[in-house]
Amino acid sequence: MAKRDYYEILGVSKTATDAEIKSAFRKLAKKYHPDLNKDKDAPEKFKEVQEAYEVLSDANKRKTYDQFGHAAFDQNAGANGYGNFGGFSSSFGFDDIDLGDILSGMFSDSFGFGGSRRNKNAPRKGEDVLYRMRISFKDAVFGCKKDLTLDLNETCDECHGIGGFNEKKCSECNGTGKVTRQQNTMFGSFMSQSPCSKCNGSGKTFETICSKCKGKGQNKIRRTITIDVPKGVDNNDQIRIKGKGEAGINGGANGDIYVQFIVEKDNAFTRDKNDLYLEVPINVSQAALGCEKEIPLLDGSIILTIPAGSQNGDKLRIRGKGTTTLNSSRVGDLYIILKVVIPTKLDKKQRKLFEELNETDLDNNDIFKKFRNFFKK
Ligand SMILES: [Zn+2]
Ligand SMILES: [Zn+2]
Repeated sequence: MAKRDYYEILGVSKTATDAEIKSAFRKLAKKYHPDLNKDKDAPEKFKEVQEAYEVLSDANKRKTYDQFGHAAFDQNAGANGYGNFGGFSSSFGFDDIDLGDILSGMFSDSFGFGGSRRNKNAPRKGEDVLYRMRISFKDAVFGCKKDLTLDLNETCDECHGIGGFNEKKCSECNGTGKVTRQQNTMFGSFMSQSPCSKCNGSGKTFETICSKCKGKGQNKIRRTITIDVPKGVDNNDQIRIKGKGEAGINGGANGDIYVQFIVEKDNAFTRDKNDLYLEVPINVSQAALGCEKEIPLLDGSIILTIPAGSQNGDKLRIRGKGTTTLNSSRVGDLYIILKVVIPTKLDKKQRKLFEELNETDLDNNDIFKKFRNFFKK
């Protein structure tokens, strides 16, 4: 199929201004958008319009097109420098036109499409609120109760959310909430509807506006809520507190509060999901001889047996002394990581003992043998 001229597709002249091109495109995009037009050839037409607009709305591409015609944009012809410019069909590459904008402009209020055109009297759920809560490592592991203080929109108790007293029909829109205007454009005249500005689209006004909420039907009120922080929450975990967010509108449900936890670092413990890690320093003698050591835990303490011949970095597992997670009640383990500390200052006695120790056959060890053999070769 021979390609049609882009100007012809958009129905504009070769000297059309950018505004004329944009306006023609908007009109045709509405006409042929496959969601709105169920004709068999609508998708093809839509694609054609889109392609034409993409070229003619770009000054450089338009200039190239004027000079070379379609050949300049034919992928198969190996055209010059427009490599990424082939895939018209899949993406909407418009820089300045929002398709949602086109669509929302199309629908009347009855479709409930687009925030500003929605029925102002329909019940709406209140907004959800996100609250970031800082908690200690220990509180995260064991769970706790915490207060959170928020300024939330609540239904006005003076007017019960209605916004005023002695309701009456809006005189501006005669109770419809909408005003209709006729618009004349170069493509003909059509009717457009917009929400009534006097009643803000509700169709109603009041004899007396509520003085407490100034007609909004809601007031910001500071509230403190006590929440149960569940056992085992981790950094960035979120919980939902249903129905405690902003008040709904026109009798809609309240929004929710989402609490996101920021868990502070602990000085000793670290955590990976349900396992806890603790680094424990031991001296060379304790490492060589083994020992029993009291280890402080997040709650209480345990006596840990460190085996003789422990190495720096050895991990000892203590089952069931980890934590849980928000999604699983399975308790993890505690890993003790041994850190053998070599003394940096020796007193006289210690120095003497180390010297004596060094005269013994301490190097009779696989690691030292391996090292010696390595250098023999
Ligand atoms: Zn009120
Ligand atoms: Zn009105």
